[in-house]
Amino acid sequence: MAVKINAIRGMNDLLPQNSSVWQQVEGVLKSTAASFGFSEIRFPVVEKTGLFCRAIGEVTDVVEKEMYTFTDRDGDSLSLRPEGTAGCVRACLENSLLHGQEQRLWYIGPMFRHERPQKGRYRQFHQFGSEVFGIKGPDIDAEIIAFTATVLEKFGLKDHVTLQLNSLGSSEERAAYRDALVAFLEQHKESLDEDCRRRMYTNPLRVLDTKNEDIIRILADAPKLSDYFGEETRNHFAGLCSRLDSLGIKYELNSRLVRGLDYYNLTVFEWVTEALGSQGTVCGGGRYDGLVEQLGGQSTPAIGFAIGLERLILLLETLNLVQGIPAVDIMICAMGDEPEKQQLQIAMDLRRELPELRIMTHCGGGKFKKQMAHADKSGARFAVIIGEDEIASRVLSVKDLRSGEQQTVEMAAAAAYFKSVF
Ligand code: ATP
Ligand code: MG
Repeated sequence: MAVKINAIRGMNDLLPQNSSVWQQVEGVLKSTAASFGFSEIRFPVVEKTGLFCRAIGEVTDVVEKEMYTFTDRDGDSLSLRPEGTAGCVRACLENSLLHGQEQRLWYIGPMFRHERPQKGRYRQFHQFGSEVFGIKGPDIDAEIIAFTATVLEKFGLKDHVTLQLNSLGSSEERAAYRDALVAFLEQHKESLDEDCRRRMYTNPLRVLDTKNEDIIRILADAPKLSDYFGEETRNHFAGLCSRLDSLGIKYELNSRLVRGLDYYNLTVFEWVTEALGSQGTVCGGGRYDGLVEQLGGQSTPAIGFAIGLERLILLLETLNLVQGIPAVDIMICAMGDEPEKQQLQIAMDLRRELPELRIMTHCGGGKFKKQMAHADKSGARFAVIIGEDEIASRVLSVKDLRSGEQQTVEMAAAAAYFKSVF
């Protein structure tokens, strides 16, 4: 036998027994997006590497060590998208969707990061994301957070997640703060770990984001970014908080929340859970008013978020908040020559009259017992049994696979019968 070729580590197959959970989750996300008046956008999985470097930032984890980058046959450096925002902005700019207009968009699809695979962290994972362009906020900031809160509430997660909120101010405010922060970090250099010492000069705000408890304790005395905020930033944040308050959306202020990508300013937020260990961020987002200009467009206010679908589904499964749905409602079984000949047509007639039901035919014949076992295994609620007698009398035997009860239904009345029971 030939040696099997396996999938790439950290890239998962979605198997049929799990696909109905994904479909349910995607359904809730899409219908929530529609209820907020958002439109779908699709953009490629591969882009020029320079797009991600420029958008996400050269000294971020994602660009420094997580991107799948390769040279294609034309010699161009391309990368698999590690997130959606950069591609979304590129697509909007290229198709003139941003100038003088507002856009409220959503996308769903695979993202790729070369990380160490573990529970809730994969190399191909999926995000549902949203990006809004052309609105300064803070009303849209609150609306975007309300969107994520609605999604989480629909899944029954309200009591299992916390909203963490922070403001990163403007780039000028951050630049002023940066000097004070670096001075503070220099005083504590010996106590920092290698990662933090490296970031101290390349991306000092990211030090605030450390998961090292000892360093977190030291940072309690660090200067606060909020002390550097001017009136505009303070008003924006206060406007957001007051809207969240009146929407009844609870939040925790977290001055250490800086997010991993460089493009954020003002509002940043994360929905976190305790139930998934250190993979606790289910959804993250924020405002990125400088990015469109940085990618060659005109200055455009923007805000977005992304939900990690594997983590969301892991959380729902951990808390028993989602169940798979069998793919079949009715299994059509046939025993004997004439029944087998008519079986597919009977199934077709039922499907035409009952388009919302999932109707499978048992194929390949076999004994009654085998066919019933197939019907049971499929998860169908009913088995329709067609034997020679049924054909002769123009009836169907309908077996309720939950109660085991069986009854005879006129073929002509079968659709009406199923309509009444489903
Ligand atoms: P983390 O701190 O967990 O690495 P991140 O800040 O890198 O997350 P973002 O870039 O903000 O994550 O992506 C948004 C969401 O996508 C995350 O909150 C998470 O739910 C999900 N996500 C990110 N990386 C992965 C991954 N490698 N595997 C699965 N989901 C991921
Ligand atoms: Mg990460």
